[in-house]
Amino acid sequence: MLDLTGKVILVTGGSRGIGAATVRTLAAAGAEVVVHYGHSAAEAEAIVQEVGPTRARALGADLGRPGVAPTLFRDAVAWRGRIDVLVNNAGVAPSVTVDDPLADWERTWAHTLQVNLVTLADLCREAIVHYRTRQGGSIINVASRAAFRGDNPDAMHYAASKGGVIALTRSIARGYARENILAYAVAPGWVRTDMAQGYLRDHASEIAREIPLGDVVPPEEVAHTVAFLASGLARHMTGATLDLNGASYT
Ligand code: NAD
Repeated sequence: MLDLTGKVILVTGGSRGIGAATVRTLAAAGAEVVVHYGHSAAEAEAIVQEVGPTRARALGADLGRPGVAPTLFRDAVAWRGRIDVLVNNAGVAPSVTVDDPLADWERTWAHTLQVNLVTLADLCREAIVHYRTRQGGSIINVASRAAFRGDNPDAMHYAASKGGVIALTRSIARGYARENILAYAVAPGWVRTDMAQGYLRDHASEIAREIPLGDVVPPEEVAHTVAFLASGLARHMTGATLDLNGASYT
């Protein structure tokens, strides 16, 4: 088991799905975790109670609203006086196609880019400024396999947002390595969570056929990968994007 004792980690979207699995894994490895949530304070509080209130605290913020990052990051820092690792996990994947009205198309693009890329970038900005005062820190961004191979016609905005996340991550790694600021991305294929459950249910056999390993990714495997990157054991992997897709690249 990796030892994350002494690290204070902010996980966005930490109350559900991949985020909740990540909070559990990080706390079990000794980290103290700020569990950011978007919608359900009760869900976040349940995770805090599960891992232990001395080890975690819940913090709410709507990442779809421009300008929220400074307050969220400042409140997260206030808990233990610092953040060592930022895990940008929160994300949305609404549907829209070229056949929908332009207003729906634009609203969906704007919201997806705001949550998945712009607020994520704002949080990276806060983290970089904070890390500079502390001689370093890490950022781990949750991207997607969709960044590389594209997505279905109703999720082109999602693929575009995740491609942006990977380019941003690499830029941070290049730009701030000399200040000991490290940035990584993870790019899962299908993961069994609420976000994916409808699609996974409707396309079960097709999905099983396309994944050489035979099954979708358990959220815990993403969590373990994040914990590895957070551990500091992989400094020279800064800028890298780690695939988790059972070899279903294309
Ligand atoms: P999920 O829907 O279970 O969780 C998404 C999280 O993001 C939730 O905690 C939610 O509260 C938070 N969130 C969404 N909108 C928000 C907002 N406006 N303000 C604050 N928080 C908000 O989905 P998940 O599968 O656990 O997704 C986690 C990450 O993994 C996302 O970035 C997603 O794009 C990525 N991902 C998921 C899959 C998959 O198949 N499930 C595959 C690749 C990448």
